[in-house]
Amino acid sequence: MYSVKEIFYTLQGEGTHSGRPAVFVRFAGCNLWSGREQDRQSAVCSFCDTDFVGTNGVNGGQFASPQDLAIKAAEIGQLLQPVEGKDQTASPNSPKGMPLLVVLTGGEPLLQVDEPLIAALKRVGFYVAVESNGTISAPPSLDWICISPKIGSQIVQRAGNELKVVFGQKGLDLPSFLDWDFEHFYLQPMDGEDIDHLTGETIAYCKAHPQWKLSLQSHKILDIP
Ligand code: SF4
Repeated sequence: MYSVKEIFYTLQGEGTHSGRPAVFVRFAGCNLWSGREQDRQSAVCSFCDTDFVGTNGVNGGQFASPQDLAIKAAEIGQLLQPVEGKDQTASPNSPKGMPLLVVLTGGEPLLQVDEPLIAALKRVGFYVAVESNGTISAPPSLDWICISPKIGSQIVQRAGNELKVVFGQKGLDLPSFLDWDFEHFYLQPMDGEDIDHLTGETIAYCKAHPQWKLSLQSHKILDIP
């Protein structure tokens, strides 16, 4: 059983795949915060801007099998369309060069994502990416691993495709990340009242340390639903 807060079709707003159409599957629950405001200050991660509690979002719910969830995500991405007299078959967004991206996010998706789900998503035609806080090992069959570490947590997943560090966290030691095994190192200014100041500081840090690249939350800037 998979507990999913919401599923929606949009553009990836952050990191290497920024601008790429994607189905987002937001899993319910996180291991670094309960999601309740009264627990925020005592949580390991206290700057979260995402509602991941429950299954009551758009297209959310409990999915009994990997296939059920994969088919729902495929329908939302228009990878599957009913054909008269037949089972569902591949259609407009099917791979023709670049497969459609599905981003497994949360909450902390790796509390629930497993190999059978990844296999089911690939069977319907997705390129499968995850956005995780790095406290749980990622299944090896994922196509893309994005890790966003939170200061104060125990990071076990120190390899992947992109490391995305939220700039503005207290106690950041950025040089300590550089021997982790990632292709891309991103700094993303923390959203909130201080965003303008933090964006300026992030730009200055990247210019002085060119191993790092700036990541902006373009979906928020442009208000992409
Ligand atoms: S780890 Fe991610 S989902 Fe969990 S509380 Fe922090 S920002 Fe939110």
